[in-house]
Amino acid sequence: MSKVSRITNTQEETLGLGSLFARNLKAKDIVFLQGDLGAGKTVFTKGIAKALGLKPQMVNSPTFVLMNFYKGRLPLYHFDLYRLENPKELKSVSFDEYFYGDGISVIEWPERLGKFSPNEFWLVELTHQGGDKRQICISYPSNPQRKISL
Ligand code: ADP
Ligand code: MG
Repeated sequence: MSKVSRITNTQEETLGLGSLFARNLKAKDIVFLQGDLGAGKTVFTKGIAKALGLKPQMVNSPTFVLMNFYKGRLPLYHFDLYRLENPKELKSVSFDEYFYGDGISVIEWPERLGKFSPNEFWLVELTHQGGDKRQICISYPSNPQRKISL
């Protein structure tokens, strides 16, 4: 199935889903995480990190930097572009080296990439469903046939 949707009821379930999803990832993959503040983008990233052999608690939203690097089984580049005002600022983190490097790039607030947006990426959409409930939809828009196993 090319687009999958899950409901999670706790932070732990979202972290677990991130870990399951990570088994689909290979070097050079880019993951867009879309959703409001508090939707669970960073929690989902912790799950990806765990699957790469990292400690989930290492991963936090990079508040004052645009990107954090973690040396997992594959390199993990965790971007949080919330504070990015102009996509030109991305030059300061030479972000394209990461996108085209050998790691996995996970990007919170990918809308901010503007014209620097890559064409191929996994799309993870997280939405509040009231209380602690979240809906998480995963797809690969450039190749809707791409298989996703969770
Ligand atoms: P974002 O990065 O999208 O702004 P975070 O992942 O930093 O959001 O924070 C999500 C917050 O919501 C955390 O405080 C977490 O404990 C809480 N939460 C409650 N229910 C869930 C859930 N089902 N999935 C993820 N986070 C949840
Ligand atoms: Mg976050």
